[in-house]
Amino acid sequence: MRWSKYFLQTVREVPGDAEAISHVLLTRAGMMRRIAAGIYALTPMGLRSHRKTERIVREEMNRSGALELELPILQPRELWDESGRWARYSSDHILFHLRDRKEGEYCLAPTAEEAVTSLVRAGVTSYRQLPVTLYQIRTKFRDEIRPRFGLMRGREFLMYDGYSFDADAAGLDASYGAQDGAYRRIFERCGLDFTVVEADPGAIGGSDSQEFMVLAETGEDAVVRCAACGYGANVERAETGRRPAPWDGETPGALEDVETPGRGGIDEVVEFLGITASRMIKCLVYETESGPVVAILRGDLDVNEVALKNALGVQHLTLASEEKVESTTGSPVGYVGPHHLSGRNVRVLADGSVRGAVNAVTGAGRRDWHVRGLSIDRDAGVRDFLSFAMARSGDPCPRCGKPLSIARGIEVGHIFKLGTKYSTAMRCEFTDEKGETRPVVMGTYGIGVGRTMAAAVEQHHDDDGIVWPLALAPFEIEIVSLNPADEAARRSADGLYGALVKEGQDVFYDDRDERPGVKFKDADLLGFPIRVNVGGRALKDGKVELVTRSDRSIRAVPLAEAVEAVRALRHELAGPIEVPA
Ligand code: ATP
Ligand code: MG
Repeated sequence: MRWSKYFLQTVREVPGDAEAISHVLLTRAGMMRRIAAGIYALTPMGLRSHRKTERIVREEMNRSGALELELPILQPRELWDESGRWARYSSDHILFHLRDRKEGEYCLAPTAEEAVTSLVRAGVTSYRQLPVTLYQIRTKFRDEIRPRFGLMRGREFLMYDGYSFDADAAGLDASYGAQDGAYRRIFERCGLDFTVVEADPGAIGGSDSQEFMVLAETGEDAVVRCAACGYGANVERAETGRRPAPWDGETPGALEDVETPGRGGIDEVVEFLGITASRMIKCLVYETESGPVVAILRGDLDVNEVALKNALGVQHLTLASEEKVESTTGSPVGYVGPHHLSGRNVRVLADGSVRGAVNAVTGAGRRDWHVRGLSIDRDAGVRDFLSFAMARSGDPCPRCGKPLSIARGIEVGHIFKLGTKYSTAMRCEFTDEKGETRPVVMGTYGIGVGRTMAAAVEQHHDDDGIVWPLALAPFEIEIVSLNPADEAARRSADGLYGALVKEGQDVFYDDRDERPGVKFKDADLLGFPIRVNVGGRALKDGKVELVTRSDRSIRAVPLAEAVEAVRALRHELAGPIEVPA
């Protein structure tokens, strides 16, 4: 492809709303353009990388035995009422709804469990037809609360979504395993450094769930990892081993009131009494759809709201207002203690971090007063402990006890075992060997195509632009004609371009009438893995320059051997993981 005949405009200015480097670089490289919040156009150049990503997903899914189909994007409310997701997703404001001329209600699919389940329900009757894994790669719509980071969190985006249907749990394990294997190959082929972590099953529900995370600073997720044993989990889901506590080994002292005038915050009390925050026990009051709750945990820790929601079995959790704290607990904000909650009509949950606590400091239940010497068992009668404190870096690993570390990750893919949640709700059943009717056992799988492409840019770039992994580069090779005005030089560049095209190489040709400096800047920004400079002094010696974008190495090769040299370099960059189509 010749640039002079192409539709491509690189831009110097950085888009005002771009927070992520991938958003900045893909926009500056002229690969995408914002149409509205979370809605983007892909230019011909952008579409090439997007399609290459999609193709890798498709090839690996086909190889895994999954079957491609197409489900509608426009879906009727009735289908979503069957699973109960219409109401749930509407209250989360994720669904885009619309009405047709007959006032029928529809949504634009954010994912397609209902549609695929209705299809399988209509077609599968016997265990002999199972297992089957169906997938599509189609546009999804979600009215994200905060669309941002360009392709990484759009409101309209391309997603692979796959669904497995099995007769039993062992079958699901195998289907899930096949997807897991395909995912690993996909992200490896995309040239991504990724890690697989335990995930919170979230709103869709289910049991086992794993996320594929690309480690990058702009990642919106935090992942907890143990270098010693390999444990990894999304921080939403992460557990920890028992943290050492300041009261370990102490003998319980007496409970006594201490005056703390005007000091309701943990930091203020800590400073005033000269203690550590870990000596304190805090009580946080939340409102949920099933009434108020008090969450008790150690003063230096934060609540993991996802874990707390799961422990409570609720959808919505928000910190209570001052008035609500007072009416629920009988004490002002900042002075709530676990020992004066009995008899109040409120659910109380304690985190494992306060198990065995003695000589702790907490609110006295009245303004300007705290207590010391609190024993969680003796004074508050708390005996049941859950796990809802947020994991921190340095906390002990839940498996091996070694210190955990925390990194930022971009969730590029997600696999989970759904079980029979949808098949039961939607009566997607089959007859087993014994002639009994049973619900199909399902798994659900997703990969963000645009997000994966953007994640590759997050991981592979430098100060001058994108450094595409070979597999996702819009073009693998770029020829830069240094002095197209010079007839002989132009003819050499044209000739090399023609020869590479002829042998089927993926080549872009900067034949514009521009200065070499401008072309080099654009080439670096666009990040094609291989560049061939044709012209200048080298050409006078019958040579061209072969430039590798990733390490910026430059090698002069005779023009006559250029095709061969490009082929060899391409082979080298492709590495061992390249898979023929
Ligand atoms: P997130 O937590 O980032 O909102 P999710 O867990 O809601 O994502 P899933 O329902 O698991 O997303 O969707 C499967 C995959 O689709 C994700 O792993 C991600 O790669 C991609 N994806 C989800 N939402 C978006 C979006 N708004 N824009 C681009 N890709 C997305
Ligand atoms: Mg997810």
